[in-house]
Amino acid sequence: MNSMQRVYLDNNATTPLLPEVLEAMQPYFLGQFGNASSIHQQGQQARAAVEHAREHVADLIGAREAEIVFTSGGTEGDNLALFGLCKPGDHLIISTIEHHAVLNSAQRLKELGVEVTDVPVDGQGIVDPDAVKRALRANTRLISIMLANNETGVVQNAVEIGKIAAEADVYFHTDAVQAIAKIPVDVNEIRCDLLTLAGHKIHAPQGTGALYVRKGTILDPLFYGGRHERSRRAGTENLPGIVGLGKAAELAMAWFENDGPTRMAALRDRLEQTVVSQLDQLTVNSGSAPRVPNTTNVSFDGIEGEAMVIALDLKGLSVSTGAACSSGAIEPSHVLTAMGLTPEQARGSIRFSVGKQNTEADIQFALERVPEVVAKLRELSPVYRK
Ligand SMILES: *Cc1c(COP(=O)(O)O)cnc(C)c1O
Repeated sequence: MNSMQRVYLDNNATTPLLPEVLEAMQPYFLGQFGNASSIHQQGQQARAAVEHAREHVADLIGAREAEIVFTSGGTEGDNLALFGLCKPGDHLIISTIEHHAVLNSAQRLKELGVEVTDVPVDGQGIVDPDAVKRALRANTRLISIMLANNETGVVQNAVEIGKIAAEADVYFHTDAVQAIAKIPVDVNEIRCDLLTLAGHKIHAPQGTGALYVRKGTILDPLFYGGRHERSRRAGTENLPGIVGLGKAAELAMAWFENDGPTRMAALRDRLEQTVVSQLDQLTVNSGSAPRVPNTTNVSFDGIEGEAMVIALDLKGLSVSTGAACSSGAIEPSHVLTAMGLTPEQARGSIRFSVGKQNTEADIQFALERVPEVVAKLRELSPVYRK
């Protein structure tokens, strides 16, 4: 391995484990390895650790402990919410910019006989709550609209959507994976019935997460087996992972109290504003929408995002494109095209996402490389016209 300095600005893909999280988990791999369902002491210790973590996760979103179901991550939470509630003949409302965990679940439900409406977004990536209201039908069972988008960081008007759902007596699920530990989230303020969060987006380990399920919600499980998680998620709990998620939730609370969002926004804004001031022919996607404090998504004219990611990678900077590489072909982002960007603009987009571990020096590092790489790639581009 080379020892070149690297800076990681792809925290919407995954975040590094915080040292305190690793430290909290460590005993549960070795001495305290018990099964939380066992009666003996090791079992009781494991149970206590799981329930302690549940308190912290519940606290982070203003929920009750009994409303938290531990999962293997965001994808499972989204699947559990959608498949747990929607049956053939039901109607499901989603938006066009959902994560694939929701989009492809909805697609599968459609094949199984569920009616699905995709509510569009405007040019800034915002879902109009009135459009959600107009989409309601007599058989609408569930509205699933994400809280913050993973590509643009746009935060939806969840309070308004929650109000519409409550008035229509329809369930409301929100994929809050990208909102948690970036903006304050309270399940009672947004009046959601289900909410998905993922550990690895908040500095806990990959393969951990939780689904909030409001008391009284009747939800079919995805897994059948033992009576773990109040029969909502069979299978022996991921003890170290759950402990790590609990610690990350606890640290996130402290981070909010310690002015974390302001510092995070300052880093993101410095990066964004400097790039905008140093380069021309670019667009900050969703630049005038409400956004989480860590994300900026920029389309550079005349550039392939993929080429830029590779060029920046060689210079030690990890970022991502707004495009997904499926079966070898680069598909323009469904989020950006839903906002009305052309496939070329969408393919020319780069997402920078800051994490709690990033510093001023990291932003400086990025700013010493991004303008140079953009200029170089434009020089080489056959399509770029100044
Ligand atoms: C990452 C992500 C997911 C998927 O979570 P996993 O834990 O990786 O399965 C779902 N929704 C959003 C918005 C995400 O960013």
